[in-house]
Amino acid sequence: MTTQTLVLQGESELRLEVDFDKIVVVTVKEGIAEVLGLELAQGKEYAFAGAKVAIYTWFGARVEVVGETTSCYATGRGETTQHATLNAHSYLETRRDEAARKVSESIAGASYKACETGLGIAKGETAMPADESTSALSGVCAEYSKACAPTSECRGPRVLVCGPTDSGKSTLCATLCAYAARLGREPVFVDLDPGLGDCGAPPGAIAACRVDRDRATVQEGVVGGVDDAPLAFWVGSTEPQENSALYDHVVEQLAKACAERLHADRTLDVSGLIINSSGWVDGDGFQSLLRIASAFSVDCVLVLAHDRLFADLRAALPRTVAVAKLARSGGVVQREPAHRRRARNKKVHEYFYGPQSHVRGIYKNADKETILEKVLPPLAPATHELPFKKVKVYQVMAGAARDDAMLPVGQASLLEPLQVVAVPISAALVHTVMAVCHVDEDEGEEAPAASSTTSPHQHLLNRAAAGFVVVTNVSMDAQTLTLLAPCSGGLPSCHLLMGKLEWMESSYT
Ligand code: ADP
Repeated sequence: MTTQTLVLQGESELRLEVDFDKIVVVTVKEGIAEVLGLELAQGKEYAFAGAKVAIYTWFGARVEVVGETTSCYATGRGETTQHATLNAHSYLETRRDEAARKVSESIAGASYKACETGLGIAKGETAMPADESTSALSGVCAEYSKACAPTSECRGPRVLVCGPTDSGKSTLCATLCAYAARLGREPVFVDLDPGLGDCGAPPGAIAACRVDRDRATVQEGVVGGVDDAPLAFWVGSTEPQENSALYDHVVEQLAKACAERLHADRTLDVSGLIINSSGWVDGDGFQSLLRIASAFSVDCVLVLAHDRLFADLRAALPRTVAVAKLARSGGVVQREPAHRRRARNKKVHEYFYGPQSHVRGIYKNADKETILEKVLPPLAPATHELPFKKVKVYQVMAGAARDDAMLPVGQASLLEPLQVVAVPISAALVHTVMAVCHVDEDEGEEAPAASSTTSPHQHLLNRAAAGFVVVTNVSMDAQTLTLLAPCSGGLPSCHLLMGKLEWMESSYT
């Protein structure tokens, strides 16, 4: 087993790439270091597999790396984008402090208590010297304060992070969430990228979860599958552009649900939203970003590594929205399609078997003692065998008559742009991942269609997913369907919405 000990200077990072079937154990021997904004405990072993990781240190650290890496190198001092991240965080904290102050002013007798800095960096030091990218943020910060001063709103920042695929969006979101959580904030993280499922739901879903410092893991970050019940909606595909009408629809539903949650909880409202978007930024993707900004009432946009997108967003969004450009970190890795496929399979596996189940699998295969059992109790997924007549499977189709060119001149289509249709159960459904839809009791039975142009199942479009299952077997002889679900107990509903995503138990390694 290869062992390397690396001494990192202050304000530098160690970048590691680990293959999917290899495992690397990292231990901080001296100093303080963090991954995705979360501090590593000195002397504790952290296992990584199928990962590209940056271990950052503000003041220097000695780190031991055991195992085979694909790449392992340290940057020089200041050769990272962490200062820009910290500056963005400082700006968001200022906004949260401002919101908290307004809340306490509006509550008679309540005293305002400023948040202490818990990042291990003295308060005066948090604002790093502005570089080209972050000085833009300071500028818009002042502009925002001027624009918003008279409205005396008590809400924290609603931040949208956007940029092309592999520009570092997820990393930035995870770090901003972790920094906020380390200061006792509870922002809501919204993942609108159905590509990899970074929010406790499998790929194919978009989701929101409250950032929970106590359940964060260094390997997953503070936002990686740590919430018991993320608020999730099913897109059914990993590419939003495959059914953009459905994507827009579920984004709007998720935005409404988030607004309700924040409205009902002052702590969440003050901490605000941190929204990750997909890499779909050109053409219709740009319009989709504008719809996202409007649906979530975004007031701050961080654009990674895309000058034109930055300029276009600045021109298209109202002046009260702060738009800033941040540089792409030199450590961000371009992920090949094969890597994405494996990362996706790993995420689905972890959805059913628990965080780090992939790493546990490698240990088991290698017949080695696991350090993980102590820290991460595995999930025990359950198998449900249900008769066909108890289960209803649906699919969302783009409305057939969207193409108005086929209609007589002057006539528009009367069909809903999205139609939910029932799907007959057959062996073709094996390996399909499906959302279990919440339905109200009176919706359990097929509702009569509101008109000939709407489907009787249309209400499912507006329903959050109660969870996700995968079809592991269909027996046409016994007329039964077997489903794998992440936990035992009955399914919350037998209304299943399928998409295009497929997963096989054997495909995660
Ligand atoms: P995006 O969300 O824009 O697609 P990510 O934040 O997921 O981009 O980054 C792409 C890949 O690069 C991920 O595997 C991530 O872990 C890795 N990565 C990001 N920043 C660094 C870094 N500084 N050092 C090493 N790997 C990094």
